Amino acid sequence: MSKPIVAIVGRPNVGKSTLVNRIAQKKEAIVHESRGVTRDRSYHDADWNGVDFTLVDTGGIETGRSDDAFSGRIREQAEAARVEADVIVFVVDATTGVTDEDETVARILRRAGKPVFLVANKLDNPSDEKTLWDFYSLGLGEPRPISAVHGHGTGDLLDEVVAALPEQAEEPEYPEDALRVAIIGRPNVGKSSITNRFAGKNRSIVSDVAGTTRDALDVVVEREGKRYRLVDTAGMRKRNLVHEDVEYYSLVRGLRAIDEADVCLLVVDASEGVTEQDQKVAGLAIERGCALVILLNKWDLVRTDEKREDVMMSVARRMTFAPWAPVIRVSALTGRSLDKVWAVVDRVGAAHAGKISTNALNNLLASMRESGHTVTKGAKRLRIQYANQTGNCPPALTFFCNFPELIDENFKRFLENRLRENFNLEGTPIRLRFRKKQ
Ligand code: GDP
Ligand code: GDP
Repeated sequence: MSKPIVAIVGRPNVGKSTLVNRIAQKKEAIVHESRGVTRDRSYHDADWNGVDFTLVDTGGIETGRSDDAFSGRIREQAEAARVEADVIVFVVDATTGVTDEDETVARILRRAGKPVFLVANKLDNPSDEKTLWDFYSLGLGEPRPISAVHGHGTGDLLDEVVAALPEQAEEPEYPEDALRVAIIGRPNVGKSSITNRFAGKNRSIVSDVAGTTRDALDVVVEREGKRYRLVDTAGMRKRNLVHEDVEYYSLVRGLRAIDEADVCLLVVDASEGVTEQDQKVAGLAIERGCALVILLNKWDLVRTDEKREDVMMSVARRMTFAPWAPVIRVSALTGRSLDKVWAVVDRVGAAHAGKISTNALNNLLASMRESGHTVTKGAKRLRIQYANQTGNCPPALTFFCNFPELIDENFKRFLENRLRENFNLEGTPIRLRFRKKQ
């Protein structure tokens, strides 16, 4: 089940990052870059009393910009949170009182239609709480006193935040045999158009998570007797948001889909070629162990040979880390090649879940030993004695050898290439582990 999103908003220096660091367990952060500015917007996994959620820290807005641009950004962030978050935590600084920016944010959040917690931070001493009452004027109810630095009040806050999260619906009845497929990519590359093509008339929306405000929708598609579950298609819905914020939230949503999927279909806008952001999304899918297929969408717009060549060059250049990912040229507009996708999904899904026979694996090692290709350092000479598959989805192989410390990136790549030549590993990342043979 997708995790709900809790957004932390507020102007700079009120203590948002401090609060996030207190709440989140892992310092897992996606840095969002735009217009050459790195803003430390980040997302973190968090849980409280056994309830999992995703924390989005709208983070540092560059200060030192003109006042107009500055309050513009604050407004955009508050808007984005209003649309995309399930619960909003609005942080103000109790030591400075209400500022104009606080009022700007409050105006937007009052219309949010979802739970907003007004938090007055930096109340390190309970005796300071008299400043608290100023914040009633923001029209967001009772301000909650906390000290993010010392942790006062944060437990109570989390109790309330968690209680306000939409109920995690029971996992609806999805067909168990269905391969889980995520359609991922930047905004406007054609994800919704492709989903609609896939779902077509057969679109059967399995769950509408009744009685909750969340709309995590998985769509089940049936093709030639096989069923596929397109996960978290809700992430694709259209909103009037500022471009950068859409991009950021869609990345967060995309990650949740990736976490639930076996196979990721990375949609790329072929008229633009593979971009750095596409590269990042692909990297995330691989890191998280998903099989990967690249769909070069809008192929109808790529009309000249020169352009076609450019697109394929951009794939070659930017996808060097996943040369094994199949690439399909499609068009959601004309329907071109979309029916080919399922056969490829089946193949990479099979590779992702596949089992390599121990015998075949060790025969390959024997032939590699015979060919004499290995690594040496001083008197040490690497010898891999045997190997077996220790996991799947994606396949994980463990190699037992005399000097695991000799294995470098070059050798790993060599080994991976041999494995891919000999076994069906199309479209799936693989994990290689090296252990010392006792
Ligand atoms: P952000 O820009 O909203 O993310 O704010 P930061 O988390 O970076 O905090 C800004 C400054 O406020 C830092 O110097 C923090 O140490 C300080 N700060 C944050 N929370 C508290 C608090 O509870 N009490 C006090 N005294 N200082 C705090
Ligand atoms: P999403 O944000 O990734 O879900 O993208 P959409 O599916 O909303 O598509 C964004 C825009 O690209 C829309 O205007 C679509 O009509 C257009 N589009 C999508 N697929 C194609 C395609 O294959 N060819 C062309 N020419 N336009 C497309």
